Amino acid sequence: MQRRTLLQSVAAIAAVPLAAPLARAAGQLVAVVIPPLRKPVDAWRKLLSPLACAVLFDEGTERAFSSPLLGEHRDGTFVCAACLLPLFSSKAKFESGTGWPSFTQCLPGHCGFKTDHQLAFEVRTEYHCIRCGGHQGHVFDDGPAPLGKRWCNNGVALNFVPKGQALPAWRT
Ligand SMILES: [Zn+2]
Repeated sequence: MQRRTLLQSVAAIAAVPLAAPLARAAGQLVAVVIPPLRKPVDAWRKLLSPLACAVLFDEGTERAFSSPLLGEHRDGTFVCAACLLPLFSSKAKFESGTGWPSFTQCLPGHCGFKTDHQLAFEVRTEYHCIRCGGHQGHVFDDGPAPLGKRWCNNGVALNFVPKGQALPAWRT
């Protein structure tokens, strides 16, 4: 094998986990484990706005009705504003009336969860980007049928990529 061909093959293999979190194996879709990105919060602070950092890495919440993504109704993909991992399809977006972008489900395997005791009167399920750990929002049980879930997301924690535009390479 010529060196150039070998390098191209290696590049193709290396690109698979980045470009295809879901891979086909024996004709079925299987989830590929997404390796965590361990990046110091100070490094994120140099890349992101103070508000985005407050939400993503200090578990803050943006003001209701403040996100331009509330009015985003095009087909496309919502990616983590920090590491750029795709988190939601536009197909899962719905109007919840809450003032935060809302979704019926996260892309399978792209979000992690933990129990949030921040509010004294309510235990909530917090979710975050499975790759960088950036806080996205909370998931509630009052979403539309058939799934019944409402993924209440901070718009500042997401970037939107319209259909037809290439998804960005994940940040490292
Ligand atoms: Zn992320």
